[in-house]
Amino acid sequence: MSECLFCQIVAKEIPAEIVYETGRTLAFRDINPQAPTHVLVIPKGHHADAAALARADDGLADEVLKAAHEVAVMDGVAEGGYRIVFNTGAGAGQTVFHVHAHILGGRDLTWPPG
Ligand code: 5GP
Repeated sequence: MSECLFCQIVAKEIPAEIVYETGRTLAFRDINPQAPTHVLVIPKGHHADAAALARADDGLADEVLKAAHEVAVMDGVAEGGYRIVFNTGAGAGQTVFHVHAHILGGRDLTWPPG
């Protein structure tokens, strides 16, 4: 079994509420939601963070962003506005080192984030 939590979700070894899936991406609800819509979008392949995803240079980052927008549309938050967040590095609050986009929406989102 992989030691990566999100690789285990991809492998269906750990349950998650999956809301969207493509060949190379997976979207599931965050276990500790910070907004009415709080979905995590990941590439199925393991890349530690957004920098590593960008370096993959094979269109995968595009696919993650497209999946993020699909999730926002499906959850009904695209019109009202939503936020895509990649916490990148422990100093920015990243706790799971399998890159994930947080899709947040359904409430007023303040700026700057904490
Ligand atoms: P990070 O802090 O790395 O940017 O975000 C990690 C996110 O993963 C957190 O929002 C946290 O609530 C979520 N998370 C942690 N463990 C699990 C889990 O087992 N299942 C799901 N669905 N989300 C998780």
